[in-house]
Amino acid sequence: MPEGDSVASVAERLRPRLVGEVLRDVRTRGDAPVIALVGQRVLALETHGKHLLLRPEHGPSARVHLGMYGRWRRFEPGVRWRRPRRTASLILATDAHVFACFRAHVELLRGALPERDPSLVHLGPDLLVEAVDLERVVARAQLDPQRPIGSVLLDQRVAAGIGNVYANEVLFLARLAPHTPVGEVPPDALRGLYALAARLMRANVGARRRVTRGIEAGEPPWRPGTPRTYVYGRAGRPCPRCAATLRSARRGELKRVTTWCPRCQPEPGEATNSRGAS
Ligand SMILES: [Zn+2]
Repeated sequence: MPEGDSVASVAERLRPRLVGEVLRDVRTRGDAPVIALVGQRVLALETHGKHLLLRPEHGPSARVHLGMYGRWRRFEPGVRWRRPRRTASLILATDAHVFACFRAHVELLRGALPERDPSLVHLGPDLLVEAVDLERVVARAQLDPQRPIGSVLLDQRVAAGIGNVYANEVLFLARLAPHTPVGEVPPDALRGLYALAARLMRANVGARRRVTRGIEAGEPPWRPGTPRTYVYGRAGRPCPRCAATLRSARRGELKRVTTWCPRCQPEPGEATNSRGAS
């Protein structure tokens, strides 16, 4: 599933082959050439959270969002495709390379400053940027204290880049139930949660496969052949910490599947009760 780290990885791979090159052909779905971009030199390839921004020297920037299933592919120039070209959401061709992305959302941004485009201006700080303003992130996260922390983590207006994988994993590492109201999470813990998400994502930029285990200090190193996540996608299996059966539910405003350990990540009320009993 494309999250901030996968988009940053794509940008790392594309940059050396696209930046400074002239776009000989650009097509969007429907296979019509994008006249405004053909013949333009690529000035920069930027990312903000899950958005990739291609800036030409002149003309509109292109914004690509991979959604849940989008992917990029590289093709040899002049080689016949096995699937129709019109199935690609975007095709970028230079003299030496052809790149295409599929099942993505692509939009041309007409404004002079693409970062001020309505599609990007609402985004929170990008967690993959070197010095993330975590105070700003925490302030944005606390706007509605009743919202479950699981939904807040996925809200791109709070911080850009976190998807369902990282949201599930950081909540497990922090021992927080996904439905804990964000107002009940102390600011330090909240800051720590976003810093943790940033560390896990950065560790995965450029990686062939996303691994969230063994990155945090004190966690046993990940070994090939063992699960790559703690809880994400592992509902019904034993918790890696306490062996309780991991639970999952479709929760939150986005109705995304959340997986958590009912014992390591107790509901706030349950945690109080168990402390009171001991
Ligand atoms: Zn557990």
